[in-house]
Formats: sequence, structure tokens, C-alpha cells
Amino acid sequence: MMPPPKKVVIIGGGISGLATAFHLQQLSKGKPLEISILEASSRLGGVIETVNSQGCLLECGPDSMLSTKPAGVRLMKELAMDNEIVETCQENRRAFIATDDCLLPVPDGFRLLAPASIAAIAASPCLSLGGKLRAICEPLVPRHDALSGGKLPDDFDESLSSFVRRRLGAETLEMLAQPLFSGIYTADPEKLSMRATMPQFLEYEAEFGSVVTGLRRANAKNSNNDGANSGHKGNAESVRYSMFVAPERGMGSLVAALEKNLTGVSIHLNKAVKNLSMQPANNQWKIEIIDGSFLEADVIVLCLPAKALAKLLQKAAPDAALLLSQISYASSAVINFIIERENILHPLDGFGFVVPAKLRRTLIAASFSSVKFKGRAPANLAVLRAFVGGALFPQMMELSDAELCRRSFADLSFYLSIKSPARGRPFKEARVSRWYDSMPQYAVGHKVLVKKIDDEIGKLGGAYFCGAAYDGVGIPDCIADAERTANSVIKSLFATQIGS
Ligand SMILES: Cc1cc2nc3c(=O)[nH]c(=O)nc-3n(C[C@H](O)[C@H](O)[C@H](O)COP(=O)(O)OP(=O)(O)OC[C@H]3O[C@@H](n4cnc5c(N)ncnc54)[C@H](O)[C@@H]3O)c2cc1C
Repeated sequence: MMPPPKKVVIIGGGISGLATAFHLQQLSKGKPLEISILEASSRLGGVIETVNSQGCLLECGPDSMLSTKPAGVRLMKELAMDNEIVETCQENRRAFIATDDCLLPVPDGFRLLAPASIAAIAASPCLSLGGKLRAICEPLVPRHDALSGGKLPDDFDESLSSFVRRRLGAETLEMLAQPLFSGIYTADPEKLSMRATMPQFLEYEAEFGSVVTGLRRANAKNSNNDGANSGHKGNAESVRYSMFVAPERGMGSLVAALEKNLTGVSIHLNKAVKNLSMQPANNQWKIEIIDGSFLEADVIVLCLPAKALAKLLQKAAPDAALLLSQISYASSAVINFIIERENILHPLDGFGFVVPAKLRRTLIAASFSSVKFKGRAPANLAVLRAFVGGALFPQMMELSDAELCRRSFADLSFYLSIKSPARGRPFKEARVSRWYDSMPQYAVGHKVLVKKIDDEIGKLGGAYFCGAAYDGVGIPDCIADAERTANSVIKSLFATQIGS
């Protein structure tokens, strides 16, 4: 007699859960496996959401992914989306930094927290003379004691603020590194882990005694490789921006393609899980849903935010729950504005701008969506995305939608000189998307914490976890984590059959 199929239940239908389901489906072809997804909300995708309005494509959450981390592009190819992968627009590949009164270009070759070129930083008006001199001295700053052996020790970690202050000075931190990093992690730089977010910078310091030298060498190598691989000529900046890709019809089309291809997976929406427990009688997990129903599973894959997961494991695994609850989260909002192009006096000759926290404005960043990717708005319109909130400005999330729009539009108008009509609204549409507790904060010690969580959840038997909270917040990181997790699940369920 055939044994009954094994049951895997995935909790959370964001990109991590969907990619896990897809890879499980691929890996289990011909094997007796039932796969289900339980998603709390009424739609799949988690923070990924694309809407179309007035002929414009609006990204309410993420808008692109790095192609240098191959898992994202690989998944699109597996979903036969090869023809839909688009790069950022070839023109205007640069970003700006807001100052008290205007936008200045990010110095050429500046990589999130350090410059690859001393000349570029010297020529940039972003820093005062004192700030420039301090940054230029970086190659002369001695290595951190812990890195003096020339190798990055396994247990070394440091906050972003501490690292940048130490190597490049406080002004580079405040004017460049903090806002550029905030655009990605919406984080507090005093807490953010270098080890978990940018370990290569620690490695540059350990290996070369200088971040600037390390970056210059890495850039030279990458520009050669990437220029050759992508067929692009041009400066390193242009090549770097070519690394950001997106589906032509927006990130939501990746979610739609996954849903369409998950033919062997039962997808249940509006099914928020409220408790998880292991039943010793049949060695299966009991998954209790908020509506009173429950499912049983041989394996559970936990793809929901760590903070939410901690609550589900409070009874079954209090130690794991305690560790998970130590990963804190930031909330943010994205406001998509559709504006008549002719009313924006700024040439929009870049992809967007970031705002140093010390300026205490409403915006933490803005992107010029319809410039960044072609075909996202008719020629007479522009789509601008405003970002607010994050770890440094949580109070912004308390504002009403109308107030968020008013304040963020005021900042956009200030920096981009947007004309307001004598009567009526100065924009054609504004759409507010709120993402509560959606951005995990990788605090100093994050890597060690994740290892402990792994150990605790490993003890439970039949429980796996993946997602943005652990090994990278980017979409390709989540997809790579999902691939690894699906592999482990299949190995654990079918190792004996495969071997026999
Ligand atoms: C505003 C914003 C912009 C971003 N921009 C980019 C970008 O441009 N490029 C990039 O690479 N990355 C970007 N990121 C990061 C990236 O999008 C996310 O890290 C990634 O999408 C997270 O996917 P996930 O599946 O791990 O989590 P989520 O998308 O958070 O999905 C988790 C799912 O679990 C569900 N859930 C929660 N609790 C329960 C429960 N009890 N029961 C059942 N289901 C539950 C939720 O409803 C949700 O659908 C951005 C993130 C944000 C917030």
C-alpha cells in the first residue's frame, strides 16, 4: 500500500512563502507531498504590491531587485519571465542627497557608506572642508584592534555609526551613509549591524587596512566583469545601476506568476494562524487558525515576520519565541504621487533622493519612479514615490493619510519645485501604502541571534523558517533563503526513500 502523502504547511504568503512553495513543488515532482499556504491577509505577496492607475504603474512596496544576487532573476527565468526582466533606465543613473536648501548629487563612486575615489569626495559639495579632509584621511586611519590580524574574526560586529565615524568621520555618517543606508533598511544607524548588512566593508578594513582601497579594487574588478557580462560600456555608476532589475509589469507580476504556477499547492487566504503546537500522539504539528479551524502537518515552514512568529511559538517553544522577539521591526509608508510632468520644474535627472535624518524633514527618501524604469507613466505624467517613517521617525505612522500626503508633498515641492495650480490639488493622485512592522532591523549581534534561533527551531523537529528577518532583507535574499529551506524540507522528508 502507498504511504499517505506527507503534508507541508507554509505559513505566510509573502515572497518567502511563495518561493518556498514553488521550489517545494519543483523538487517534489513524483513524490507524495501535499503543500498548502496559509496567508493572513486577503492577497498574496506580503509587502509586494503593484497597482495600475491613470496609465501609471505604481509600486506600493519594493520596486526592483539586485541582479548580482542571482536568486531573484533565476526565479523569474524558472517562471518563464525572461522576456519581462528590465533594467533601470540607461539615462540619469544617479541619486541625490537633500541638504537644507537643495539636492546635490551623491559623490561619484560613493558606495552606501564610503567613497571609492578620494577625488570624487574632494570635489563634492555634500561635505564641508573639514568633513572632506576627515574622509580623505581614511586610508591613514589604523585598523580596529580586532581586525589588526588582517582577517575578520567570526565574532566581530559593530554598528554602522561606529564604523563610519571611526573610518570616515561624523559628517560622512550624517550627510551620506545614514541617509543612503536608511533608504534600504529604514534603520537606526547606531544599532544596525555591519556584520549582517555590509560585511564586505569590515573585510576591506581587515584585508587592506582601508575601506577606500578595498572599494577601489572591488569596483575595478566588478566594472570589468559587469561591463563585459552586461554588454554595457560606461562609468562604474552606470554599471552599478544596471544591477537593479524589475519585471516590466512591476513586482506584483512576479507574485502573480508564482500564484499561477503553484498548480499543485492549496492556497488559503484570510487564514491568520494563531497558535502552533506539536502533537506527540501522531507526531504532527497542529496549526490553529484564528477562525477556529485547524490543520495538521508533518512539516511547517514559517515564512512570516519574526515578531509575528514569536507569538505563535510562545507556548510550543518559549525559548525560540524569546529569541525571535529580539528581532525588532520598523514601520514605514510609501506614498505614490501622480503629478503632471509640466508642473515639476526640476529636470528629474536622477533616480531619486535621500534625506539625512538630521534635517528632520518628513521624507526619508523619494524615488522618481517614472524616470527609473521606462514605460511606467504616460509622457505628460510623472510618478514620484515618497518614503516616510522607519526606525528613526516612527511617529510619522500616527499621522492620517491626508496629513502624510500633505507633509510629504510639501517636501517634494520644496526640493523639486513643483508648481501648485491656483485651484484644486497639486497632484492628480496620491496613494498611501502603510507597512507596519515590515522591515526587520538587523541589530549588532544579528548573525549570532539568527544562529541561536536556528538551533532552537531545529530542536522542534519538522519546523523550518525563512524570510526577510534572518539572512538578508532584499527580495533575492528571501528567495535564496526559500530555495535553501525547500531543499532541507525535501531532504528531511524523502532522504530515506531517495537513499533506498
Ligand atoms: C516599503 C518597502 C520597500 C522595499 N523595497 C525593496 C526593494 O526595492 N528591493 C528589494 O529587494 N527589497 C525591498 N524591500 C524588502 C523586501 O521587499 C522584503 O524584505 C520582502 O518582500 C519580505 O518578504 P517576506 O515574504 O519575507 O515577508 P512579507 O512580505 O512580510 O510576508 C509575510 C507574510 O506573512 C503573512 N502573515 C503574517 N502573520 C501571519 C499569520 N499569523 N498567519 C498567516 N500569515 C501571516 C503576512 O500577511 C505576509 O503576507 C522593501 C520592503 C519594504 C517594506
